[in-house]
Amino acid sequence: MKNVFGLFWQGFSYICMIAANCSLTGGGGVDGAIHRTGPFAGSLKATTASEKSSSSSLMKGRFMKTKRLIISAILGVAFRRTRRMKHILLTWHFLFFLVLAGYSQAPIPPPVKNGFLKLTSHAELSAYVSATGAASDLISLEVIGRSVQGRELYAIGFSSGKFGKDASKIRVLIFAQQHGNEQSGKEGALLLTAELLKPERRHLFDRIDLALIPQVNPDGAEVNRRRNANGLDLNRNHVILTEPETRSLHGFFDRYLFEVTMDVHEYSPYGEEWARYGYRKNSEVTVGSLTNINIPDDIRNLSDSGYLPFTMKYLRDRGYSSFTYCPGGPPDTAYIRHSTFDVNDGRQSFGIENTFSFIQEGMNGKDDSVANLRRRAEGQMTGMLALLEYVFGNKERIQHLVAAEREKLISPADGQMISIQSEHVPDGSVLVMPLLSLSTGNDTVVHVEDYRPMVRSLYDVKKPAGYLVPADCTLLLNWVSGHGFRQKILKAVTGLRIEQYGILSVDSIDFEGDRVVNPVIETKEVEKLPEGRDFIYIPVNQLKGNLLVLALEPKSMLGLATYRQFARLLKPGTSWPVLKVNKP
Ligand SMILES: [Zn+2]
Repeated sequence: MKNVFGLFWQGFSYICMIAANCSLTGGGGVDGAIHRTGPFAGSLKATTASEKSSSSSLMKGRFMKTKRLIISAILGVAFRRTRRMKHILLTWHFLFFLVLAGYSQAPIPPPVKNGFLKLTSHAELSAYVSATGAASDLISLEVIGRSVQGRELYAIGFSSGKFGKDASKIRVLIFAQQHGNEQSGKEGALLLTAELLKPERRHLFDRIDLALIPQVNPDGAEVNRRRNANGLDLNRNHVILTEPETRSLHGFFDRYLFEVTMDVHEYSPYGEEWARYGYRKNSEVTVGSLTNINIPDDIRNLSDSGYLPFTMKYLRDRGYSSFTYCPGGPPDTAYIRHSTFDVNDGRQSFGIENTFSFIQEGMNGKDDSVANLRRRAEGQMTGMLALLEYVFGNKERIQHLVAAEREKLISPADGQMISIQSEHVPDGSVLVMPLLSLSTGNDTVVHVEDYRPMVRSLYDVKKPAGYLVPADCTLLLNWVSGHGFRQKILKAVTGLRIEQYGILSVDSIDFEGDRVVNPVIETKEVEKLPEGRDFIYIPVNQLKGNLLVLALEPKSMLGLATYRQFARLLKPGTSWPVLKVNKP
């Protein structure tokens, strides 16, 4: 044992935690009382209610009592008949824990240490990831950047070899808490860190290199606020990439080119509109796949018909209710869709680079962010484990698929059509949606007629060879460097066809219930580049090629022109500053 004092302190914390949990679980709300099957359930205490029912229906006689005492002590199930027995059990736990801690040397994750009674602070998270990194040869810890207020953004790398160096391993990135008030993703990621160090999880790393970022938005998290310290929504920032947190995340992704990504969030079903409707969503873990139609069908089909059913069953088998991530509604006032097709969120921004990519949303706490925290964190962790198990079982297939589809992105552009305006449409099916009835307090299902699971293109453009960005436009150059696009100085324009868009007027178009700009344009052929102006050429045949088209086309409803920061580039009577380069 390296650090005797540390072990005693951990033992003491553990006992405090047991005591806290015992006193906490007496009442048992609806959510708290139903399921207790999370992976940490064995090491923590079961509810008082289940203890009582099990003890009342059990055996009599001295021998059986002794046997029960031994079994319960070993399993960690508290039978608090007498004060004396309670002391014996606590001593048992203490000794058992000392042996375990001394054997494994694995630090206890902060949410467990805190008895799930408070949120893990950034300082606690830092101390924990550092200690865990030092204690395990499986882990390599990296600070991938800093938040606006200077807090470290950690990536915990898990690899049985050297992280990211073995091409036969599939590279998986899970990142949580872009929204600071969605706390269970971070807590779940910290539980997952401890869980993955168990010997029974070790096999995963025969095939997987995992990077786990427990907290993308530490500044928001510290004050339990959705946005970062600049007041921006990080999960709407993956196209413009103006924030240090999203830039760090994408810079990290670009270094390892992860083949699988998952963005972990929470949803809040407690809004007034749903309350008026009389029902609310009640699925503990929801999972969404890719919906942007520029992402290849094969990737989206494997996500929808392979991963989604797998994770739903995985979660269900472990006692968690789960459903597809479906925003919109309530059904009496608005349609239900399969989230957004925008590429400015975490999931789709990696998906558009032909990554097998998902969003997972747990359910937020009803009263505050600590409410039901243990259950929420364990649910999130279980969903993350589902992803790892699925990827482990389908490694070859996913790797080949992603490699083949990425090869198409980096091959010379072939005039493929890219959809820059789309809409959600019905496919004739009715959604049977699990909801909680607020009048009866029971789970039920509602049949949603206005259900729009499909995305249809409204406006396509032919993928060009590349774009020319004026070298004197700092706004655009900053954007180019933020994404790290491959670029070069174009010496001559011979043999190329250059087009420029003239902005005639600026109209608007519906985009998922909002209005975004939709310029009326004319396309002009450009004989030669303007005298005295330098341009930077960005070829489209790169991993971010489809993103480039979506961002730089002025009519793209996902493009730069739709952002406040870039709005001044779109002026009627002028030309769009970015030129389009086609092969003759
Ligand atoms: Zn979120």
